[in-house]
Amino acid sequence: VLETSLLFLKKKIDRTEPTIHIDLLPKVCGHKNTLIQLFQNLISNAIKYQPIGQKAEIWISAIESEDKWEFSIKDNGIGIEHQYLEKIFIIFQRLHVKGTYSGTGIGLAISKKIVDLHHGRIWAESTLGVGTIFRFTLKKPAVE
Ligand code: ATP
Ligand code: MG
Repeated sequence: VLETSLLFLKKKIDRTEPTIHIDLLPKVCGHKNTLIQLFQNLISNAIKYQPIGQKAEIWISAIESEDKWEFSIKDNGIGIEHQYLEKIFIIFQRLHVKGTYSGTGIGLAISKKIVDLHHGRIWAESTLGVGTIFRFTLKKPAVE
């Protein structure tokens, strides 16, 4: 899933190529193409919402619990103000409308829908000027 996402993003990157650190990528239970979309949305935001001229650095990892994995996609970007951390998941909500950040405001709404459909949870943590972490949970595959 991640390989396909990265390949797609590589083709459309109009900024300095990001550095992506991948710690752990476990198998999860879900619909492959929609999960590709989820990773693409979050990684493309991490690449896009950077101070001008800065090279994006992204860390992807996962923490295991009993029945699910909690993924995190962390960036070194411009960050999101605390008061908007929940609003960004609403369709057409965009924060960084000034400057060079183009978009339609649907990526995170779709991402949330995808995680909801997989019975998971998605949320964001951020420090302005330091970066943002998106976390989401996905179920582990059933053991045979
Ligand atoms: P698109 O539909 O092309 O994805 P978009 O990127 O504007 O457009 P979302 O992905 O839904 O829309 O993101 C909503 C808003 O949340 C963005 O406009 C941006 O202001 C903010 N945002 C999302 N991801 C990040 C991030 N990693 N760092 C900082 N701000 C972010
Ligand atoms: Mg987006």
